[in-house]
Amino acid sequence: MVMAKARAVDGPHQSFRKADIQRRELDKHDVLLEIHYAGICHSDIHTAHGDWGEAHYPLVPGHEIAGIVKEVGSDVTKFQPGDRAGVGCMVESCGSCENCEAGEEQYCLKGNTPTYDGVDKYGEPTQGGYSTHIVVTEDFVLHIPENLPLDAAAPLLCAGITTFSPLNRWQAGPGKKVAVVGLGGLGHMAVKIAHAMGADVTVLSQTLNKKDDGLRFGASAYYATKDEDTFDTLAGQFDLIINTVSAKININDYLSLLRLDGTLVNVGAPAEPLDVHVFSLIPQRRSFAGSLIGGIRETQDMLDFCAKHEIMPEIEVISADDIDDAYERVQKSDVKYRFVIDTSTL
Ligand code: NAP
Ligand code: ZN
Ligand code: ZN
Repeated sequence: MVMAKARAVDGPHQSFRKADIQRRELDKHDVLLEIHYAGICHSDIHTAHGDWGEAHYPLVPGHEIAGIVKEVGSDVTKFQPGDRAGVGCMVESCGSCENCEAGEEQYCLKGNTPTYDGVDKYGEPTQGGYSTHIVVTEDFVLHIPENLPLDAAAPLLCAGITTFSPLNRWQAGPGKKVAVVGLGGLGHMAVKIAHAMGADVTVLSQTLNKKDDGLRFGASAYYATKDEDTFDTLAGQFDLIINTVSAKININDYLSLLRLDGTLVNVGAPAEPLDVHVFSLIPQRRSFAGSLIGGIRETQDMLDFCAKHEIMPEIEVISADDIDDAYERVQKSDVKYRFVIDTSTL
């Protein structure tokens, strides 16, 4: 049993406090990871605040985890102590349903086990990456390539894969026009990845405040959605739109920007329903889709892709005492572009 230092919340809208949590003894397929960095995803905030339904408290969030393997179980073959490794949004799945067999563990028909706010196969609550150590079965641990620094690699484990997966599936690439809605943690990764895939990328942000950054990340155009002319100017232009916005928006305005057979993929996860009008879809045979993170194999492909193209998130490394402030700032869209907790400060 390893005791890990952590930060936990005891209820919605409460402040983080110091906590000591137990990590299980290593099973023969388990890896003990010493966490060095943990990203702050907007999903951590939705969960901690109970936006999606009541969470299990005390809650230690964090599913963008990067660190060094400390110890491995007797039958572990993919990792050894000293390896650079990461853990994302899930830590287990059934392994035998058709989706798991297809490498789409996030869509496990029995439900994947989330890294925090879940219950593991031993019946114990899962606790996430705002902590110094975690024990995870090797099949859900990823290799972090050498040229990705651990602090910048952490956000790839959620923001990276959540945007890579739909861009990959809907074939963002040369000749495709892709729009990214919202330039936050996920959005800025979507811009960088879509650009590296060869697509022509447009950012749709609330204002033009971050325009220079968006163009630097690889976008060729940048529009403010507060400016109503934007929706006339860009009508019917895009093959693919990735919506990363964490709040309810008028999705019909954005669907009108798709060309024939275009798809809008929603990865943003506000609690409120979005009101889709069928006449936003019917006339140009448009599709409205959703996408959840990505499978383990695809997550490794994403890490290798980012290493090859030297794609990294823009991060602000913070101390554990600053988590509450970081939550406030993310909710005000005041983040450039991902907060990452240095777990040595826990
Ligand atoms: P984030 O860093 O807060 O980025 C969200 C961006 O949305 C903001 O930077 C802002 O961009 C825009 N935005 C926020 N409020 C808005 C509003 N009221 N109207 C219009 N635009 C608004 O959050 P994130 O970590 O990237 O996460 C984004 C969403 O994806 C969250 O809901 C999260 O839970 C969800 N998520 C889903 C998955 C999945 O598997 N599907 C995985 C991870 C996260 P601008 O300032 O540029 O306007
Ligand atoms: Zn996340
Ligand atoms: Zn399964």
